[in-house]
Amino acid sequence: MLFASKNHRVKCKAAQGASFTVGDGHRSDQPMLLKQTCLGNSIDNQARIRNVFGKMKIETIAVHAGQRIDPATGAVSPPIHLSTTFERDAEGTYSRGFMYTRNDNPNRKALEEGVSALEGGAAAAAFASGTGATSAVFQALTPGDHILAHVDAYYGTTRLLREIFVRWGLEADFVDMSDLAAVKKALRPKTKLAWMETPSNPLLKVVDLAATTKIVHEAGALCVCDNTWAPTIQRPFDLGVDFILHSTTKYFGGHCDVLGGIVIARTDNDLFHRIRGIQYEGGAVPSPFDCWLILRGMRTLPWRMRAHSENAAKIAQFLSQHDQVDRVHYPGLDKHPGHDVARKQMSMFGGMLSLEVKGGREPAMKMSNRTKIFTRATSLGGVESLIEHRASIEGPGTTSPEGLLRLSIGLENADDLIEDLNQALG
Ligand code: PLP
Repeated sequence: MLFASKNHRVKCKAAQGASFTVGDGHRSDQPMLLKQTCLGNSIDNQARIRNVFGKMKIETIAVHAGQRIDPATGAVSPPIHLSTTFERDAEGTYSRGFMYTRNDNPNRKALEEGVSALEGGAAAAAFASGTGATSAVFQALTPGDHILAHVDAYYGTTRLLREIFVRWGLEADFVDMSDLAAVKKALRPKTKLAWMETPSNPLLKVVDLAATTKIVHEAGALCVCDNTWAPTIQRPFDLGVDFILHSTTKYFGGHCDVLGGIVIARTDNDLFHRIRGIQYEGGAVPSPFDCWLILRGMRTLPWRMRAHSENAAKIAQFLSQHDQVDRVHYPGLDKHPGHDVARKQMSMFGGMLSLEVKGGREPAMKMSNRTKIFTRATSLGGVESLIEHRASIEGPGTTSPEGLLRLSIGLENADDLIEDLNQALG
């Protein structure tokens, strides 16, 4: 447990018993719960944080990870450090840990430590978007390496591979990763990485994370899980996955007002060091304000995920019984082909679902034009419900059915959302 001493010096005692001092001039009569989390980005410090948070529940970690009382002012909500450059010591070192904001910044460090603690990882690297984070993972590979990716992964991810990284010398194959035999067959000696996404986008296919990871590891490759759609309700590191990716633009930010991405590593390894290098040297870093917003969003994330999931479950149930709807893709429905695996690896089924409107594209477009509460817009994970015709946003090469509408279920009352969908279906 961490605590504040009476002599105004803050002492932290990590779970293993090591104690260390984090600053002068701070006084608090409250227990100093988890206040050391901005101490440093070293793997040692991350291990200490993991030991402290390891015993806590996800809601507590979400509120406290990456947070500290500001030692200079006592501010409970952390200040935003806009400075791009930091003072050097007389002897030329940077004893306070920061030199230049592209390399590191207090708000980015807090975000990385917070998200890493939430996912139970060893370290994390934050980027200016989810796609920036995805690119850094691909860039960390070597030309000639082979990537196996889920065919129903986010369209932008598969396009990034097909249109950019294949030209740079990576090789890529796309398989339906909800089919373990297909994964096994597609692995090659050159495969270095398997890119999983579950539930997938927009068909909500479920990848069995534990079983797929086992097969991929046996083939000598590493696994990434894009966990953007299921933060806090799906724990990929517990299932053996090596890296987690989030577009923090979505549920972490939670309000459709910030763009970001993050890669979290389960263990400290060479690939993560290369990703960190690409963050520093490549420079696609998030601004301090963006980091601050995303970490603020994380504090309510487990509760929002619960409400998104509860609303989506009710709406999926309603739509699955509607005579104008051909199909509902939602892993919480008993008849969803991935339901049993989803039940095994998710604590709730998330806030995203897709429906296929009877008659295809035209009735689907009509329906999306008639909603009053749902806004026609791309993206997901915000407090407001969104509706989107995926095939037309994805454009040429889309594999989304023409009658498919993707819904991001927000935090409105589910009854109002159901009424809106009902009148829009006509
Ligand atoms: N991964 C998933 C599952 C997504 O849905 C998205 C965006 O929609 C991304 C990655 C890319 O994130 P960003 O838009 O922040 O670049």
